[in-house]
Amino acid sequence: MSTVDLNGRTITDSVVKDVLNNMAAYFGATLHVTSGNRSTVPEGGSPTSLHLSGKAADFKIDGLDFGNIYQNLRNLGASQVFVKGHIYEFIWHGNHTTTTGAHLHIGRIGANSNGYVKFIMEGVTPDGAGKYPLDLQVPLTGSNTVGNSYLGQ
Ligand SMILES: [Zn+2]
Repeated sequence: MSTVDLNGRTITDSVVKDVLNNMAAYFGATLHVTSGNRSTVPEGGSPTSLHLSGKAADFKIDGLDFGNIYQNLRNLGASQVFVKGHIYEFIWHGNHTTTTGAHLHIGRIGANSNGYVKFIMEGVTPDGAGKYPLDLQVPLTGSNTVGNSYLGQ
């Protein structure tokens, strides 16, 4: 059963919620939200974080490690999961992260005619701790399943 477990969190942005729903369906597993809207910046967090404007979520997916999810979406599934017409950041915070712990992050930066996803790795290696270099920018192409059956709340 693939579903989104909001875990008591609130995510204001409906597009972000649609993407999470698509992601759970794509991987066929339950996705657990670990952070959504925030009113404060946690240790190691960004003062311009999209969490502060309700446009971001941190999450994990049952049975899959963060690297597998990141590489799959980066190399294969982005256009099937991300709703077109928007710009996103997708960040893999690894075991050396300067944030509060390893996790995946998705944020919606804004609108765009076609849309693309900026894939970024932070803290996956010791040298990468606290750094946010662009790994790959993936354009959203073809037809995808636009989320319309959000079940997580
Ligand atoms: Zn985050």
